[in-house]
Amino acid sequence: MNYKLAVIPGDGIGPDVVEQTLLVLDKVGEKFGHTFQYHKVLAGGCAIDATGGCLPQETIDVCKASDAVLLGAVGGWKWDTLPGDQRPERALLGLRKALGLFANLRPALLFEQLADASPLKPEILAGGLDIVVVRELTGGIYFGEKGVKDTDLGPAAYDIEQYAEEEVRRIAKVAFDMAMKRSKHVTSVDKANVLESSRLWRRVVTEVAKDYPEVTLDHLYVDNAAMQLVRNPRQFDVIVTSNIFGDILSDEASQITGSIGMLPSASLAQGNFGMYEPVHGSAPDIAGQDKANPMATILSAAMMLRYTFGLGQEADAIENAVKSVLDQGYRTPDLFAGEGTLVGTAEMGRRIAEAI
Ligand code: NAD
Repeated sequence: MNYKLAVIPGDGIGPDVVEQTLLVLDKVGEKFGHTFQYHKVLAGGCAIDATGGCLPQETIDVCKASDAVLLGAVGGWKWDTLPGDQRPERALLGLRKALGLFANLRPALLFEQLADASPLKPEILAGGLDIVVVRELTGGIYFGEKGVKDTDLGPAAYDIEQYAEEEVRRIAKVAFDMAMKRSKHVTSVDKANVLESSRLWRRVVTEVAKDYPEVTLDHLYVDNAAMQLVRNPRQFDVIVTSNIFGDILSDEASQITGSIGMLPSASLAQGNFGMYEPVHGSAPDIAGQDKANPMATILSAAMMLRYTFGLGQEADAIENAVKSVLDQGYRTPDLFAGEGTLVGTAEMGRRIAEAI
């Protein structure tokens, strides 16, 4: 098969980690008989420098005409003084909106070789950890009505949390479909004891669950969920939650695994289309120094193969290659704790590609 990818290397370490990921994809193509065709486009700071805007129309058009999007990271010190609405990171919101990416998937998978990097005690993590946070990405308080007004207490500001039933239904379906491919357990996180929008959330998720009789559904309040994630994270399989709660909980869940350089993510639209990117940013402090860990982006490409292209075997091949290189003791600087072999971005990428 021939797959068309829009590739957005972006800024900072983005181009470094994307380059290694394309090498790995080429190797997958060679081994399994696929062709991946790359169309590189600009977004973020490099797009501001080249065109004056962080998200050129051409980038949106190329993404829409592709089967999936692979993104490195955007942003950097050079553009930090620009006003909020002109900053490189605005490109991410623009892409989500233009491409209808309403579901954000963030796996928190603990690689046993890196268990020492987790801030949690070994006994809490015994037996491993494999959670996916499914976060609603285009609704809720981040996109609701906002403004400033005068009140009896002086100037005030507000942001409104609002969810339509349909928005909840479609994200709940993503979570239940995912649970069917995993341990058949969904935890829906809300604040239904206080928020009207959460009561609607809980009612709709419960309705959707009726179509998935094999899946066990639990509800947790967000404050309890935050606590349970560090107390007993192994109780979770798929967590589904709103935009703001998911923003916070997915960071918490991912930190349990220890290294930001290992964390992939996917943002999905209706159908199979998706944008895949590492959780980390552009890391300007190490950009261009051959120090960035490319594994988060390489694992994002594995998610792309699995979720957008339905190539489970090929995705497994990438994940196994990452594990095998870790088993052999190779570590980028962010993972290096004195043991094993210290390698740079390019060597790590090459070794993973060779292990496919
Ligand atoms: P960051 O994730 O870029 O970096 C945080 C720390 O983690 C840094 O010390 C960095 O060196 C390290 N790090 C990150 N990724 C790494 C990797 N692959 N390998 C090794 N070390 C890694 O977050 P930040 O410093 O808060 O932000 C830097 C810039 O990135 C900002 O402009 C920010 O707005 C932007 N950003 C972009 C995205 C995105 O494009 N999706 C996400 C977050 C931040």
